[in-house]
Amino acid sequence: MRLPTRPPLQPGQALDCYLEHLAEANHLEPFDLLNVLQSTLSREELRYLTLAPSPTALRAISDLSGQDVGALHAATQAGYGPLAPADFSRLEPARPAASYRAIAATGWVMGHGTQACPDCLAAHGTWQTSWMLYASIGCTRHHRTLTATCPRCQRPLRDSRHSPLRPHGASTACQNPQDVRGQHCLHNLATITTPAMTTETSAYQHALDHVLAGHRPRLLGQPAQGATWLSEHRALASLICHITTHNPDRTQPWQTALLDEATRRTDVRGPRWGITPPASPWIRGHALAEAHSILTRPDPDSAAHALQAWILRIPSSTEALTTWTRDRLPTNHHVTALVNAAALVRRRPGRRITALALPELSAEQIPWIIPETLAARHLPALPGVTNRTRNAYAALCLARHLPDVTTWAQAAEALGLPGDSGIRTARLCSAAMRTHHDTFTHGLATLARQLANTSPGSRP
Ligand SMILES: [Zn+2]
Ligand SMILES: [Zn+2]
Repeated sequence: MRLPTRPPLQPGQALDCYLEHLAEANHLEPFDLLNVLQSTLSREELRYLTLAPSPTALRAISDLSGQDVGALHAATQAGYGPLAPADFSRLEPARPAASYRAIAATGWVMGHGTQACPDCLAAHGTWQTSWMLYASIGCTRHHRTLTATCPRCQRPLRDSRHSPLRPHGASTACQNPQDVRGQHCLHNLATITTPAMTTETSAYQHALDHVLAGHRPRLLGQPAQGATWLSEHRALASLICHITTHNPDRTQPWQTALLDEATRRTDVRGPRWGITPPASPWIRGHALAEAHSILTRPDPDSAAHALQAWILRIPSSTEALTTWTRDRLPTNHHVTALVNAAALVRRRPGRRITALALPELSAEQIPWIIPETLAARHLPALPGVTNRTRNAYAALCLARHLPDVTTWAQAAEALGLPGDSGIRTARLCSAAMRTHHDTFTHGLATLARQLANTSPGSRP
């Protein structure tokens, strides 16, 4: 059977959205169109229509709409081929639910619901296939973050587990089922406000659009496969989410929001961000943008250096670093190598100190030894080390951040001390720093901020 009116599939349009428009163009209720499809397809087959439709389903829709089978397939997640979030060829039409669970277990597969740019919905009412990817976080046409939740019913967009089509079809109303049977949320999704993208999240989304369009990206300065680019970003963003959830030192609003989402999640052993990433595109976007800023460095060395600030935030007291990251990372080649390289920083006190983010100080602002009155307020006692040595070490640590200072000897010389005294002091403190790193560096950062506010020449 062929329907009398056959609107063309729009570029990027998702299959469920197309079917709603097809029904509307033919004055059919979405329910009637589904009934027609159900004469050849099972309910289960319809349920996974937007993920990976079976060849039978594609032929049935093609017969009704006159659209090319390949174009219809491209309007689904499976249509991304090697760039799809999972290998959907493993979805078995005979047992879709069971086989889907195995596919979803690989992580970052949006099984139901989607995301949307409210401005795009307002402009043309077309839902994009790319919005069904967790990798997507924003709309580069409207420069804003996507939304994934309806503010009225508080449920994911298009949150129906039983039917791919919404009851009222192509309108911009939410139409999620409500608790009262037969009633639907009528919030206009085109009116939702979402945050503008930042420079960083926008750079990530532009790069993703480029990859999804089939262009070859660069990863750590080298040309890479699109699928590799996607999986490395996914892995590193997941690790960044894990580090953020485990570290109380959260400074950015998205990190606080991530912790809120983590406490709402019901995973028994804590959230597994590598399997189910943050639902909020805004939070996910910031984690992906952090990963992107590291993975776009020109070479692995500078990427490992950029990753050090994150590695230092992994709680040093809990578990060995390698176990900690191994449990939280899929086996991605680049990211694992980066983590191992960046992890050197935790074993070498000098590297750990230079990887710290500290305010910029001039040599004149750093005393050759931190006065005890100031040190006692901020620094922990270091076992086996006198306070005087600790205070001299703190001054040296700050001096290691001066331009052109790369060794302890140079740090001492910058403070007007003999170079070998710097090496001796650092050696005395290095053992204690293995166990007191976190409290010491935290105090050091506070000290540096205080010193940064003193004018050169008025050393405390
Ligand atoms: Zn848009
Ligand atoms: Zn709603």
